[in-house]
Amino acid sequence: MFHITSCSNGTPTYRGTLPTRIQTMPSAFSQKAFLGGIQSDIITEADLLSILRRFGKCQLKWPKNDTSGSLIPGFCHVIYRDTRSVLELLKHCTHRQRSSVDYFLEIHTTTASTSSLFFGNNKRSTKLKMIQVVPWNIHDNICVVQQLDISSSGTKDWSRTIFISTLHGKISAYGLAVIMSQVFGRVSLAQLNTDKYGYPTGTATVLFSDSLGYMRAVAAGSIDIKCECFHKLLEIDPFLRENELCYYCPNIADNFCRNFRCLRSYCNSCWIKKHGTKPMASSSDHPPISRRQQSFPLATLN
Ligand SMILES: [Zn+2]
Ligand SMILES: [Zn+2]
Repeated sequence: MFHITSCSNGTPTYRGTLPTRIQTMPSAFSQKAFLGGIQSDIITEADLLSILRRFGKCQLKWPKNDTSGSLIPGFCHVIYRDTRSVLELLKHCTHRQRSSVDYFLEIHTTTASTSSLFFGNNKRSTKLKMIQVVPWNIHDNICVVQQLDISSSGTKDWSRTIFISTLHGKISAYGLAVIMSQVFGRVSLAQLNTDKYGYPTGTATVLFSDSLGYMRAVAAGSIDIKCECFHKLLEIDPFLRENELCYYCPNIADNFCRNFRCLRSYCNSCWIKKHGTKPMASSSDHPPISRRQQSFPLATLN
């Protein structure tokens, strides 16, 4: 069940369960997985690595801008050289079935020395700590709802494509497609942007089946999603291609106007011709947006 309401400030909202796809094929995990709930007073990076390396060669990737000094942050990503290592790691985790399966690596520590860390539960231990392991199924990176809308060359109709940031790490392309169609209008395709490991980088593109859904989404500028595992405001922008041309002349466009009656790209001189010389401000009736930089924050599970 889902509920759609509109906040007093006009931000479209989605309330309900996070839509999950019925799995029709076996999971194909990325060699990169999220590790959460790491307690830096219990475990060091070296300890963690020595446990994880029992399943194969791997490295850890810690979040940037860590200000905690010598303590390691509470979460990171593990990148295995081989996907089979992720399957091995998951085999050694305890499973909890909620809306999806949650995996936990049990780590026991003895009082004698923190260096005698071990995992598994057949040994005498005094402390038990759980590290959450969140694998990523690469089948969740793309959701094609309507094949017809994607041309034979595989390119999307960019005039009906939006760009979404910053996603929560639990949302799949299917979940995104369902939510966007419930809130704004029919969706043909949702695709998460990924790194070289097929792991989501926190942004996505969504192609709408018709212009109305696209216009509603771009005019809204954001969507507030609250489900059982997170509450997050996602930013919505029109997808702007590199070197997008001005709608009115052959110049390269500098800005895109988000106003419902414009929704098009302008070079600076055509912008002034159509809008006047009023200063461009995001608070104006015709808020301009420029193509964003390609570096985006990673999807988070917070
Ligand atoms: Zn122009
Ligand atoms: Zn405008």
